[in-house]
Order: sequence, then structure tokens, then C-alpha cells
Amino acid sequence: MPDVDVLVVGAGPAGAVAAREAKCAAPELDVALLERDPAPGTPVRCAEGVGDAGLREFADPDGASWVARKITRVILVAPDDTEVKVEGRDVGWILDRTRFDAFLADEAGRAGAAVLVESEAAGMSRGTDGTWHVRIRNPRGEQMFRARIVIGADGVEAMVGRWAGLEARVPARDMESCAQYVLQGIDFDPDAIYLQFGRDIAPGGYAWLFPKGVAVANVGLGLVALKADGRNARQYLDDWIARRYPGGARTGHTVGGVIVHTTIQATYTDGALVAGDAAHMINPLSGGGIVNAMKAGRLAGRTAAAALRAGDPSARRLAQYHCAWMDLLGHDHLKYYRLKRALEELDDGFFNALARTVNRIPQDQRTLGRIFRHALVRHPQLIPVAARFFL
Ligand SMILES: Cc1cc2nc3c(=O)[nH]c(=O)nc-3n(C[C@H](O)[C@H](O)[C@H](O)COP(=O)(O)OP(=O)(O)OC[C@H]3O[C@@H](n4cnc5c(N)ncnc54)[C@H](O)[C@@H]3O)c2cc1C
Repeated sequence: MPDVDVLVVGAGPAGAVAAREAKCAAPELDVALLERDPAPGTPVRCAEGVGDAGLREFADPDGASWVARKITRVILVAPDDTEVKVEGRDVGWILDRTRFDAFLADEAGRAGAAVLVESEAAGMSRGTDGTWHVRIRNPRGEQMFRARIVIGADGVEAMVGRWAGLEARVPARDMESCAQYVLQGIDFDPDAIYLQFGRDIAPGGYAWLFPKGVAVANVGLGLVALKADGRNARQYLDDWIARRYPGGARTGHTVGGVIVHTTIQATYTDGALVAGDAAHMINPLSGGGIVNAMKAGRLAGRTAAAALRAGDPSARRLAQYHCAWMDLLGHDHLKYYRLKRALEELDDGFFNALARTVNRIPQDQRTLGRIFRHALVRHPQLIPVAARFFL
């Protein structure tokens, strides 16, 4: 049975960064990164948008081969199609996730972690020696690995946390079903992302257009099935595209789930940590999880390395990871979650009126903070919503 110090399951952003950070923090440790697919980053189940500042904590996007497009504007679209343009110099980037995830996994490999593709964790149990015995399925058959710490970075369908006994159930109202096409030959501002809200467009979520290039974009939506009228996410998306981008050629299709909840109660136990989507570390308001996953992976990798150096991979020691995550972003996600729930109570008419009043602010002064303040003054029914955000 091969022995490793840290076994990371899942080579998405959380896992690749966790493996790299564990190895960089303690080069003497054996670190292995497992990926069930033949290559990290394939298939892509993502709209690929990230904020500039968060991305730069991990990699330099200027001129990088894994970037598709720089974004300098956000266009919020009200249910009645009124557009509100919000400018910003360094808003964010649209990644090429296939290349980006491969780049992160390469970085882990360059740091000295063993990257094993077509290797799926299929179960794990605690040995009498206090290590985890992890069953790995690969094209050659099955193999057992013994690991002192396992990091579960296995995404939205996470199993590692469950095998380790962590509670990770999601209320149905906090699970978004998403559908997305790559659309070609459509007309839009290639420097902007578009987000449209509306009960008939994407109930409980929103529709998006994220440019990959001139006339090519990821076009998709996420919705809460409990709030839908019987149509699934793909049917809502087909209707939206038929209305807004009728001439577009569909060159790729993906579906996936996004957990718009808050961090699970415990992200650690004896000899195990969970990070990224596996621990519900997604921003519940935006549904964005790439940068969050990398931030969590960094904390998980460093915590695992320090615990092994100290000879103490116990839950008591690994609890530091949970506290650090909650201080970094977990408590903010609780606030965003409350805000999301409160916004869900407002109807389409409210957002249509809000868009029209916000458009009276000159475009070069239209920041998100200013829009929020303006909205509070003009629409007093927002005050209880805002108050809940801070409670
Ligand atoms: C349609 C859609 C659009 C999205 N758009 C955005 C966006 O624009 N911006 C944004 O920030 N976020 C977006 N997200 C969310 C984002 O994709 C995730 O939050 C992010 O990928 C989480 O990273 P992760 O490393 O936790 O998990 P993942 O990226 O899901 O990586 C998990 C990896 O683990 C592997 N794996 C799973 N089980 C096993 C196993 N048993 N053994 C070995 N390997 C395993 C998987 O193959 C996968 O490679 C979107 C999600 C969806 C579904």
C-alpha cells in the first residue's frame, strides 16, 4: 500500500492549490493529487468568470495563455430588459478553465506533488494506525493508498467529506441547476459581462453572458428548481436565448449544480479537511466559487503541512483551518446568504423601477456601492433588506 503524507482528492482549483501549498510549506512531505478525469479542467462546467484582485493572489493573468478575455464593465439587465452599465478598470477576467486548471495542476507538479490522472477515489476508511486507507480506481484496476491527511477537494458531488463523516447536506432551495451553451455569432459588448434577473427568466438565480471573444460567449443560467414552473434549466435557457440571441450558433453545452448555501458546519475531522465546492465555499449571492476554492485550498494545504510537521493531524489541530476560513470569507458568506434570501422576496416590478432610477446616476459615477446607496434612498422598501444583511 503506497504511503503518502497528504492525499488531495480532486484537481480543480481547490485541490491543485492545496497540493501546491502543502508541498511548498513542507517540501519533505509526500503529497499526491488525484484526478478522476483524464486531464484536469476537462470537461468544463463553468462560466469561467473571476474577479481581478482574487485571481492575482494566485497567478498573473496579463498575457497568460489560460485567459480568454479581460472584462471592464458589468451590465445588469432588469427583468424588462432595462440595462444598467457599471464601469470599472479592472473588473475581472474570463478564463479558459481547461487551460487554467491544467496550469494550476502543473504548478502543483512543479512544486513536487505527484499528479495522478484517471485516478478516482472510490472509498476510504480509518485504519487502526490512525491513517486513512483510500481505495483508488484507475485504468489498471484498484489500489489502496494510506494517507496521514486527506484533503477532499472533489467539487459539488463531494464524497470524501461524507466518507469522513462530515455533514454536507444542502437544502433544495439552496441548490441551483445550471445550463450553459457556448454561443457563436452573437452581438454584445465584448468587454462586458451581462447578468439578467427575473422570475420568468431564471427563478431564484440569474442568466448570464460571459464573453470568450468577439461574438463568442458562455451564455447560461442558474435557477432553483423549487421555484420553477415545471421547465428545467435548459428549457428556460432555450427560451431566453430565443428572445435575446436568436441567431446564435450553439457549439457547446454543459449542465451542473451550484450550491448557494453557506460553509458546512465542520470542514475538518481527524486526518481530513474539505475545501472548495465540497465544503459549500461558494459566494451564495453570485454563485462564484473559483477564487474561493483557491483561497480555501491554500489554507487547507498550509494547515495540513503545519499539522504534519507538528506530528498532530487530529481534529483539534485541524480546526484551525475552519476558523481561518470563517475569518477570511465564511462569515461574509453568511451575510451574503441573508441578503440573497431577502432579495428573493422582492418582485420583478421592483427591479425594473430600480434599474430606471439607477440609470439617472451618470455612468462614470455608477459604482456598485453608489447604486446600493442610491437604491436605499429612492426605494425605502429596501431598508429592511439591507438591515438583514448586517444582522
Ligand atoms: C454552470 C456553472 C457556471 C459557473 N460559473 C462560475 C463562474 O463564472 N465563476 C466562478 O467563480 N465560479 C463558477 N462556477 C462555480 C465553479 O465552477 C466552482 O465553484 C469551482 O470550480 C470550484 O472548484 P473546486 O476545486 O472546489 O471543484 P471543481 O472545480 O469541481 O473540481 C473538483 C475536481 O474533483 C474531481 N473529482 C471529483 N470526485 C473525484 C474523486 N472521487 N476522485 C478523484 N477526483 C474527483 C473532479 O473531476 C474535478 O476535477 C460555476 C459552476 C457551474 C456549474
